[in-house]
Amino acid sequence: MHLALTLFFIAACLKAEDRKFALALIPLGIICDLDSYIGVHRATFHNLFVIFIPLIVMFILWRLHVNAIKDKYFILASLLLAFHIFLDTFYNGVFLFYPFSDKSYDIEFWLGLKETGLSALFQWTVPGKVGEINYVVTPTPSVPEIAIISGIEFVVLIFASITFFLKFQDTYSSSFLYQKLRIRK
Ligand SMILES: [Zn+2]
Repeated sequence: MHLALTLFFIAACLKAEDRKFALALIPLGIICDLDSYIGVHRATFHNLFVIFIPLIVMFILWRLHVNAIKDKYFILASLLLAFHIFLDTFYNGVFLFYPFSDKSYDIEFWLGLKETGLSALFQWTVPGKVGEINYVVTPTPSVPEIAIISGIEFVVLIFASITFFLKFQDTYSSSFLYQKLRIRK
């Protein structure tokens, strides 16, 4: 789901000429999950401080008077990191203030119809200790398996990929193809 939303987000925010940067920004939408391997999952790269890293790099480059990369790409990079972290906050929780706090923040939101009528649920914090949420990398019989991608997510990812491809496809080659098709007619 993270990858699909990243593709949609980049395709919506950037112009077709920005293809190189669009491709370079894709990893920013999924890079947080590297903490499954390095550090503590949902903590090391899933905290509020991580969001500011691209902006800090931007300020450093300002000080060095390097302006090879436009500011908007750093801002988009920060937004992609924030997007990932907040999605996870709504899905099993994140250690938002790690390493300063060991509390997990799990936002539960539910709005729907029950027998009694319209019902809403909004819950903010579920305290937990760092490392308490166990994400399965190699599923073992004692822990439930967690799907990497489900049916709905797969469909969303396909549509996101098509959207991304159509927006950033090589305009030269597509017009070349279009010309060829016209000649054949
Ligand atoms: Zn994540």
